[in-house]
Amino acid sequence: MPKIQVYFGNIQPRAGQCSIKRDRFKQIISREIIIDNYHWAQDAWVLRKATVWHELGHCVLMRGHEPGGSLSYMAEYFGQPSEIDDLEFIGANEIILDNELFK
Ligand SMILES: [Zn+2]
Repeated sequence: MPKIQVYFGNIQPRAGQCSIKRDRFKQIISREIIIDNYHWAQDAWVLRKATVWHELGHCVLMRGHEPGGSLSYMAEYFGQPSEIDDLEFIGANEIILDNELFK
């Protein structure tokens, strides 16, 4: 399995981004996660974790987005400009969320 490059960059308005490149045989040749500098600097730790787990969900587990409001780190709003109070939502559901992706 190819390694994942993880680094900081400027990708506003997103908080994180996963890119998977494949060759012409659809085999994965590279995977990278970019974490947005601005969000990282501003966000509380639980939001930082949610961003990283969300992107790992894409890049490692090949998960897509769940509908907004789902009790999932893969809810579509994670890594996107926030429309709900992510901090409160995650804080209240952190144990459930943590068990969802990587046990
Ligand atoms: Zn996403």
